[in-house]
Amino acid sequence: MRFAAVSALAIPALVSAHGIRDAHHARQAPAANAVSGSSASTSAAAASSTQAGASAAPSAPATGTATAVAASGPAGASTLTFTLASTNPSAIPLTEIIANAPSQATVAATTTFAGGTVPTFLPSAPALPDISKLVPSNYPTLDVVPPTDSPEVQQWIKDVAASGVDIPNFAPTTADGSCAANAAAAADSTRCWWTCGGCKADDDIEECPDKMTWGLTYDDGPALYTGDLLHYLDSVNLKATFFVVGSRAISYPALLQNEYMAQHQIAVHTWSHHPMTTLTNEQIIAEFGWSKKIIKDVLGVTPTYWRPPYGDVDNRVRAIAKAMGLQTSIWTRISPTATFDTGDFDINGGTITSEQVLNNWQSIIGNATVIDHGFIVLEHDLFQQTVDIATGYILPDALAHQPPFDIKPMVQCLNKPLSDAYIETNDNKTNPIGSANATGSATGSSAEASGGSNSSGAASGSNSAMGIASPGSMAAIALAVVSGAIALFL
Ligand SMILES: [Zn+2]
Repeated sequence: MRFAAVSALAIPALVSAHGIRDAHHARQAPAANAVSGSSASTSAAAASSTQAGASAAPSAPATGTATAVAASGPAGASTLTFTLASTNPSAIPLTEIIANAPSQATVAATTTFAGGTVPTFLPSAPALPDISKLVPSNYPTLDVVPPTDSPEVQQWIKDVAASGVDIPNFAPTTADGSCAANAAAAADSTRCWWTCGGCKADDDIEECPDKMTWGLTYDDGPALYTGDLLHYLDSVNLKATFFVVGSRAISYPALLQNEYMAQHQIAVHTWSHHPMTTLTNEQIIAEFGWSKKIIKDVLGVTPTYWRPPYGDVDNRVRAIAKAMGLQTSIWTRISPTATFDTGDFDINGGTITSEQVLNNWQSIIGNATVIDHGFIVLEHDLFQQTVDIATGYILPDALAHQPPFDIKPMVQCLNKPLSDAYIETNDNKTNPIGSANATGSATGSSAEASGGSNSSGAASGSNSAMGIASPGSMAAIALAVVSGAIALFL
């Protein structure tokens, strides 16, 4: 089945939002093409066009390597600067992984889990909720910042206030949250704004501690081609972390259950994928609260990790996340302006070619082999292009790399068990975030996780979203489970 027209209409918010932030990244990282090794090469056009050209360059030369900074420029302007160690024999040709590529057949969720199914891979995991009882109309509008006057959000605001976590009194950033439009905020070191200056908080997760270990992550799903990615990951016995957008979770609950039951880590990526520093405290609470709630309502568990869209986080956003039991996790940055971002998101928009993404990837792994710790890379499962390049090229190349990478979900690259990834299964021994006094009931209809002094808990407050479904909404969900894309309009 093909959903090109539907999916193209369904995700304008994300596309346009990334477009804004891509300009933002380009402005903040114009000089990141630092030399990185004996064969490094740069292009003057690289950092000025997208952030991807600046993705993997270290601030100082990395010795003993052959890393090359990818030259990005106008779409179609680059060729591969290296030879992949391996590719998938069934890979889509690079010449077909382009903007406006014809839609490929999607791979739906392979398994439909009955409500009440108990995961056996996590100690004390609650049973899966019955997703046929989800009522999408009881959740906020997709892809927009949720209102703050709902009973749910009002309760979460009270929970944050009672958490004991001090929320810094910074004003939200303005406009699109760009550094240029917020010069004073960018210059304020007490704000510690990651996107503008690369400030890292002590507990931000940017890397894995062990050298040659890759915390594999995918953002912005689940979506139409997530099933392809899951199938490939299963075929090569890899597990990953999925940073899930709440608006996608309500659209693709069956895929989300498949991710979770395949022992991938599920984490939060906000409800509407808005730049978080631009939001009020109450809006940030609404973004986190609804994201946690839909994931809990689909999986029975509540994530303890989140990733800010665009990496846009400062100490105000971090504190609210902490008050809501979410640990801020970003991706590897080896200089304040050079991060391990493949740039894969922008293939769909036509501002980067798949060859340029692979050149960025080559730079990333070149640098990954010389840094003294492991790494986390920004990739996405939102578009067929991002999935095609991951399954056809990046992952096969990584699996064939010598010396080998140890590839695992982010929480496990941190040497924590998968059970630490969720409030309900966290034993509070190695991951105190979000675990204090956590409770998690077995079914969605009464699902509620309340936190203690360090956590405001998960899906507390009204749970009207799990009420009895009307026949009309049941039909809508059934259709959504089958076709996915249709649910985006609910
Ligand atoms: Zn994202």
